[in-house]
Amino acid sequence: MDSLTGKRAVWGSFILLLPALAFPRTPSSHDAKQSLFSQSAAPILERHYATPETSYLLLDANSGAVLASHWDHYEKPIPMGSLVKPFTALAYADAHAFGYPVYECKGKAGGCWQEQPHGKLDLAAAISVSCNAYFRQMADRVSREQVLPVARSFGIEDPDGDSTTSNLIGLGEAWRISPIHMARAYLELFRRRNQPGVSPILEGMRLSAVRGTGAAVDRQLEHAAALVKTGTAVCTHSPRAPADGFVLVLVPRDEPEIVLLLRVHGVVGATAAESAGQALHQMQE
Ligand SMILES: [Zn+2]
Repeated sequence: MDSLTGKRAVWGSFILLLPALAFPRTPSSHDAKQSLFSQSAAPILERHYATPETSYLLLDANSGAVLASHWDHYEKPIPMGSLVKPFTALAYADAHAFGYPVYECKGKAGGCWQEQPHGKLDLAAAISVSCNAYFRQMADRVSREQVLPVARSFGIEDPDGDSTTSNLIGLGEAWRISPIHMARAYLELFRRRNQPGVSPILEGMRLSAVRGTGAAVDRQLEHAAALVKTGTAVCTHSPRAPADGFVLVLVPRDEPEIVLLLRVHGVVGATAAESAGQALHQMQE
């Protein structure tokens, strides 16, 4: 797979970069950092993260090809918690002239996962802390029918026919998505970074890594920064834990080379982000 994928990726970049050939780039430290991740990621994951508690899926960000995996049936749809929030947000944006609202979070009393209020949030801030109160208010104004075209255009599974507002923000089990489709959907999100409604989502993922639920990732990265979305979902393992933590990382954030989707049994998403941060730290060395 490696050499074939590599060739495809090279040719893919060649075609995409044709207009840039008139301005040849000289090799820079940036290029060196980029190759660092793709070369070291798979062996480090295989050596340290192929455990019963941890599942991972590593994709090449250029081709979407699977570079490494330790995930039983990664094509099988499962609940993935707040990883669905960007797609519900896009359904809202489609119906509201691509504008996003400001809502106030009153903490647990207002249906957030966090006891303390997050206060007034715009979409990027809400993505960065994965505020449930913000997304509940947004999802109240989004129908399942409005989510369907977004889900289909990003290649993820539809929410069940009887999905509620809670399901559209990633609670419960009515919106199950396969890990491979989810990882590729985030890659597609990045590819559409210049389309209306997308950049506030990516800004939220940047902020998540800087100071939100994904802060454990950027803390561990010395020479790069990441785009991160965390999620906490119903555990699908046997025996069952109260929850499973998920984290989706695109790195480096300005020109992603890899997509890492990691699941840790029995923790919340922010804790899964710590594992991803540790793995990325090792990949840099
Ligand atoms: Zn909140």
